[in-house]
Amino acid sequence: MRVERSASVFSSATPCRRALVLGGSSEARILATRIAADSRLQGVISLAGRTSAPLAHDLPIRVGGFGGVEGLTRYLVEERISHVVDATHPFAGRISANAGAACAAAGAPLLVLTRPPWSPGQSDRWIEVVDNDAAARALGAAPRRVFLAIGRQGVADFRAAAQHDYLLRVIEPPRTGDLPPICEVIFGRGPFALEDEIALMRDRRIEAVVTKNSGGALAYAKIEAARALGLDVIMIARPASGGATTTHSIDAAMAFLAS
Ligand code: NAP
Repeated sequence: MRVERSASVFSSATPCRRALVLGGSSEARILATRIAADSRLQGVISLAGRTSAPLAHDLPIRVGGFGGVEGLTRYLVEERISHVVDATHPFAGRISANAGAACAAAGAPLLVLTRPPWSPGQSDRWIEVVDNDAAARALGAAPRRVFLAIGRQGVADFRAAAQHDYLLRVIEPPRTGDLPPICEVIFGRGPFALEDEIALMRDRRIEAVVTKNSGGALAYAKIEAARALGLDVIMIARPASGGATTTHSIDAAMAFLAS
């Protein structure tokens, strides 16, 4: 896998479309494979650099922030990017807002590729909340054993609900100072099998699950496990989107890139 830190990944010889895919999601990896197989397109995947060992992609990768709207606008112009697909995680609100502003400034068309959010089924016990602070409050006053399946970002918000006994699952180690006082950290990168999620929640005597409404199939097993065990799920809603044209379809993203 090629990881580009500063040099351009584009070949100037071929007069074809130049796609910037803002990544960090499974959708971005699937799109990378499709772009790499299409001779009309050149592409680069951009990652924030949050994980020390990013998953392989079929396109070159650049890593690290652009430097806000100004930096991203400069990148789009200097690299002569013809199309931008924002395939970041639905909770990565800042980069999506930056992409909207930078694409408008640089005159580059933008498409948001994201997964549909989950909806509760009849036997689900969801409490839907707007953000982490509301999730911490929704756990209630009485101490509970809580599975925090939100990643390491935002875990400090649960220090305000210090009475609970947390099980936090992360890919990368969190900062110790961010953790609530009673918190066990376990490491794992999905997708997770339903039977493993059920076993984990049963073994740790979990009473409530806190998760973001990320959507998609790969992270859904924890929701099914909570349903099977009759557990409360505190479901954190997605941040508001910036109003850019949005699709859930890889085919639609490819059609956009070919337009
Ligand atoms: P964020 O709050 O929206 O972005 C913070 C800053 O990180 C941005 O302003 C930008 O820095 C940089 N950045 C974010 N995504 C980038 C990308 N794909 N390429 C280059 N720079 C990027 O983002 P976040 O919530 O920290 O998420 C960071 C990354 O992790 C995203 O790419 C996202 O897809 C992935 N991810 C996030 C979550 C989540 O729950 N938030 C879950 C799974 C994966 P500059 O302003 O300097 O350009």
